[in-house]
This record gives sequence, C-alpha cells and structure tokens, in this order.
Amino acid sequence: MSESTRDEGCLFCRIVAGQVPSEKVYEDGELYAFKDVNPKAAVHVLIVPKRHYADVAELAAADPQLLGRMVLKAQDIADQAFHGAYRLIFNTGRDAGQSVFHVHAHVLTGEVMDE
Ligand code: AMP
Ligand code: ZN
Repeated sequence: MSESTRDEGCLFCRIVAGQVPSEKVYEDGELYAFKDVNPKAAVHVLIVPKRHYADVAELAAADPQLLGRMVLKAQDIADQAFHGAYRLIFNTGRDAGQSVFHVHAHVLTGEVMDE
C-alpha cells in the first residue's frame, strides 16, 4: 500500500496488514471487520476501511460510497447475529471517546439493549 493509504503508527492499519493479530469476522478488498478485544455487547465487531481515514467525517468527505458499504456490512453482521437489530457507533474526537484515529464502526448486537 502507498504512503498515503497507510499510517505506520496506526494500530488498525497494523491489524489490517496482519502485523497485529485480530479475530477476523469479514474481509474484502476495501473493508476489514474484527472482534473488539473489550466487547460491550454479546457481539461487538469493529468494521474499518483498509485505507486510512482518521474519522467518519474524513471518510464521508473522501468516499461516501465506502461509508455506505460499511453500514451495509454492519447490517449483514447483525442479520446473521441478531435478526438485523444493532447499534452502530462512530466515536469521533478524543472527547467523544475515540481512542484509535482510524475510522471504525462499532457494531453492537447479539442481545437486547437498553434504550
Ligand atoms: P474507540 O474508543 O471508539 O476509538 O474504539 C477503539 C476500540 O478498539 C475499543 O473498543 C477497543 O476495545 C478496541 N481495540 C483496541 N485495541 C484492539 C485490538 N488490538 N483488537 C481489537 N480491538 C481493539
Ligand atoms: Zn490506520
């Protein structure tokens, strides 16, 4: 991958590259999905674009179609895990709880959740 698409210091770039182990749930040419190490629901999957974008707004501006594909992949995961019901979270900014600055969708599913 070229310099512009991969950030060497980025944990999720390293996971996508296979340099850090992960429990893979799904992979294609553009997306990678893996289990969160600290699950907040019965099923907690992170979906990331293979290409590095810092957050969801950066991705939306650069490639809205890929953001749409991430949403549809979340739907697929929830269709299989829990009759299509899920919570989809993009923490954006440190003060909102974002700790990894490679855009990721948290897919929380697999159980009935409080409102
Ligand atoms: P956020 O706080 O929204 O940036 O989410 C980062 C998420 O990455 C957290 O839910 C962490 O539990 C998760 N996480 C951190 N390191 C790893 C890892 N090596 N493999 C899987 N998930 C991770
Ligand atoms: Zn990255």
